[in-house]
Amino acid sequence: MLQITNSSELIELAHAFYLASECGTCHALMNPGWESVPGSFDLQSLKLIGTLRNEDSAETWEEYHPNGTHSWSADAPIAISYYPYSRCDLYQCIDCSRKYLRYGEYGGYYVDERVRPLNADLIAVLEKPHTPSLK
Ligand SMILES: [Zn+2]
Repeated sequence: MLQITNSSELIELAHAFYLASECGTCHALMNPGWESVPGSFDLQSLKLIGTLRNEDSAETWEEYHPNGTHSWSADAPIAISYYPYSRCDLYQCIDCSRKYLRYGEYGGYYVDERVRPLNADLIAVLEKPHTPSLK
């Protein structure tokens, strides 16, 4: 499994496998912003290929929205080391190789699996890597 530590690695991955064709398997996940994985979707159709999580850095809830977007915006930047990207694993569709970011939002007794397509155009290139501060 790949450990992704900077934006350029992620951009490379996003570009390497980008396909414009329709895919029946992951069609339900193609909404550009974050969404809960639909109950009807078979998570076995996504194969784990990498992670953005870094066990060495502190947990952060800080988000990156320099242009007034919010967590659910379709055009929110994908900023590694910021929440929720710092908790994401990278998956690919077993049929079309499209890349998806995914993390589990823990709420009470269940985990809400959230998914967002990896779009190279939205990956934020940060001048300085963001280092979450220990609180
Ligand atoms: Zn697919």
